[in-house]
Amino acid sequence: MELKLSSGASKYLSSADVTSDHKFKACFEIGKLAQAMSMQNTKTPPEMVSEYFKVFDMYTEAETKKQAVSCRKGCSFCCFVPLQITEAEGHILAKHLTEEIVETLKEQKQLDPKAPRPCVFLRDQECSVYQDRPLACRSHLVASPPENCDLESGREVMKLVIPGIEVVASAVYSAHGVVDFSDALLNQIAHPQEPQSEEKTTGGEDAGVS
Ligand code: SF4
Repeated sequence: MELKLSSGASKYLSSADVTSDHKFKACFEIGKLAQAMSMQNTKTPPEMVSEYFKVFDMYTEAETKKQAVSCRKGCSFCCFVPLQITEAEGHILAKHLTEEIVETLKEQKQLDPKAPRPCVFLRDQECSVYQDRPLACRSHLVASPPENCDLESGREVMKLVIPGIEVVASAVYSAHGVVDFSDALLNQIAHPQEPQSEEKTTGGEDAGVS
């Protein structure tokens, strides 16, 4: 598996404005990540992605202590933006699917892929799957006033770039690939079994494959 960095992460690492201390920390995370990825075949993709949830939360928590973040419970502008997620995240979210949600997903599939739509898990302006929300939702933090996030406002949104998250996200997405949010969830209805790691699908006697 290849570890690729996003342009944001590469730019960060080559920027003259970033202190060597910060670059060292980002490189340390890349090393840890490469090590975790080399062990991937002992875990299923959903197990791996759940680990990344913890890493993302750790970074965002640290960031919110350092600088003012506008995101608050009940503010849901970003939950109207079409998302892309990994199939593994679709599997994690599958337990929250109801017949009504599946119908809504099918309806949303007919929309222009870029057209805003309320996330099917949004309830009373709050995320109903908060513990299982995808990496894309976990990493979206802004510093500009919340009302700027109104898609119709036309005002500038200042997204916080958190180097550790940039690095981890680019590697996760390049390793697992991303698909449209609706597709990732609807695929779970068509193929509900848990995605298997390479070792678990090809590992012989104790792989548990019948
Ligand atoms: S999963 Fe939760 S946080 Fe993410 S877009 Fe949907 S409601 Fe919002």
